[in-house]
Amino acid sequence: MTVRVRFAPSPTGFLHIGGARTALYNWLFARKNGGAFVLRIEDTDAERSTDESTAGILDGMKWMGIDWDEGPFYQSEYLQEHKDAAQELLRLGAAYRCFCTKEELDQQRAEARANKVAFKYNRKCLALSAEESQARADRGDPYVIRFRVPDNRQETVSFDDRVFGHIEVGIKEIGDFVIVRSNGLPLYNLANVVDDHRDRITHVMRGADGLANTPKQVLIYEALGWETPVFAHMALTLDPSKAKISKRRHGEVVTVEFYQEHGFLPWAFCNFMALLGWSSGDDQEIFLNREEMIDRFSLDHVSKANSVFNYRKNDPKFITDPKALAVNAAHLRQLPIDELLPYVKDWFVRQGLWKDDWDGADRQWFASTVDLIRSRYHTLEDFTELGRAYFFDEYPIVPKAAKNIRKDPVLEQGFKRLSQAYAALDGFSLENVESTLRVLSDDLGIKAGLLINGVRAAVTGQTVGPSLFEVLLTLGKERVISRLEKAAVMVSAG
Ligand code: GLU
Repeated sequence: MTVRVRFAPSPTGFLHIGGARTALYNWLFARKNGGAFVLRIEDTDAERSTDESTAGILDGMKWMGIDWDEGPFYQSEYLQEHKDAAQELLRLGAAYRCFCTKEELDQQRAEARANKVAFKYNRKCLALSAEESQARADRGDPYVIRFRVPDNRQETVSFDDRVFGHIEVGIKEIGDFVIVRSNGLPLYNLANVVDDHRDRITHVMRGADGLANTPKQVLIYEALGWETPVFAHMALTLDPSKAKISKRRHGEVVTVEFYQEHGFLPWAFCNFMALLGWSSGDDQEIFLNREEMIDRFSLDHVSKANSVFNYRKNDPKFITDPKALAVNAAHLRQLPIDELLPYVKDWFVRQGLWKDDWDGADRQWFASTVDLIRSRYHTLEDFTELGRAYFFDEYPIVPKAAKNIRKDPVLEQGFKRLSQAYAALDGFSLENVESTLRVLSDDLGIKAGLLINGVRAAVTGQTVGPSLFEVLLTLGKERVISRLEKAAVMVSAG
């Protein structure tokens, strides 16, 4: 059997972490099994679906590198098939028209509430004869179509979920549910089943919020004589207070776009999402390339426990789950530099900060500078923020760095004399930049550390970074000299 899976988002909002993770798992499963990954946009809710949302979903998937083999199919284009299926269910006696008014149903709901039981339609219209039902429909009485739950034939409806195991629901617990609205539009459970059947989906992998609908869908499959697919539901992702993550509650940080805009590497972001509910079975968490994860992916290691998106609003230290940052940092650090560079370039281009020389005459310099500074960075944004001084003459000096520059009045002399000594150097090598600085500190009777910290602050605007002498080398003699001169002025100006 060829595996066929699908991602079936409703285009009613942004592509968020939960949806993106579902897409990713489906894609991994398809690729692992040499199967097909189908993309279906479930846009039948005309009021809530927007083209903008569809475009956002497609963009997000493209950015993540999750490519699909078929589609995008648009559910709304298959309306007639959904209606035909409803007619077939009517014909089979597996569905019936319900003419009950809103008032009647409200009354039943109120009674159920008063009796503290779950509402279940009282089946008044099931008693209508076929002729009467047809006559009322012909007369133009508004009606919905309800699925007739086969409580005369079976006690339970069950399925084996690949993640949640055997699931069985008493048939009596399920009320006759609506499959076609009074405006003639089929509802999710029907449309979804018809589409999955037509698309020959073998495995339905989706969020655990779909679990509640599955028994109803299984009943529809059975009524139509169709084979049910394998179901595999993905546990939910919650915030630290156990609330479902949502844009309304958490803001942009739950959208894929946020990660794109904050300098995440697409595959590193996928790596983070993969870990929200899946583990490789051993300690490995970082998968630098797709093939490696595809190879390891299996539904056996998808967890049925909810995962935690460890985002704390208003935490100035972390813009998102620290784990997302850590995974991205690991990719930044570990990727072969040639694989990383295109992403760094793309980031600079998007910020309008790219210089063509970095691809030409200064190619080597650019690559080695990125290589030098990447080990401490978490996102691509760090290259243009924390790393600005490496690439541009204008750069901010963070308050702590400014303090280091002015730490001791002796540093005025330190910066001045160091710049002169560097200017007098023949070459500019790791050895002579270091020894020059150390000799000068001895001369001034200060600890080398004081000067090193001051120089780092002066030339990078930061208090931490790679080995200072390597930093000086990558910046080059001229830039170092002029920055030291400026720093001397800063000290004297106080
Ligand atoms: N359109 C549904 C959703 O976005 C699809 C659920 C499913 O995959 O069956 O929730």
